[in-house]
Amino acid sequence: MRKRKLNKSDAEWRDRLTPEQYRITRQKGTERPFTGAYHETKEKGVYRCVCCGNELFESEAKYDSGTGWPSFWQPIERDAVRTEPDNSLFMHRTEVLCAVCEAHLGHVFDDGPPPTGQRYCVNSAALKLEPRE
Ligand code: FE
Repeated sequence: MRKRKLNKSDAEWRDRLTPEQYRITRQKGTERPFTGAYHETKEKGVYRCVCCGNELFESEAKYDSGTGWPSFWQPIERDAVRTEPDNSLFMHRTEVLCAVCEAHLGHVFDDGPPPTGQRYCVNSAALKLEPRE
């Protein structure tokens, strides 16, 4: 099912988010590795977009990549996220964004584990874990 887009002004996002959440999700920032809330988390649940609540990743697809950022081998569903080429900082990377509100989440790389071989490397500050009993 196609998701409805959510558009908010920059001022609204600034208002709703902490400075760190704003810097990462709305200004394509990166948190320092091993500093975020979720890089070591093994709790079961659904990771939602911190900006709009869109479901992004399930704990079942989370694994320890050793990078210091929460890493997943697939999104919860194909349409949950959107990707875009990112050629900033003299690198060729693929940016991952929330498909609903365009929050910058992180990047996806081809060095992940089976079955997909993908590594969605996501900033903790872009996520909110909804624990499941
Ligand atoms: Fe979002």
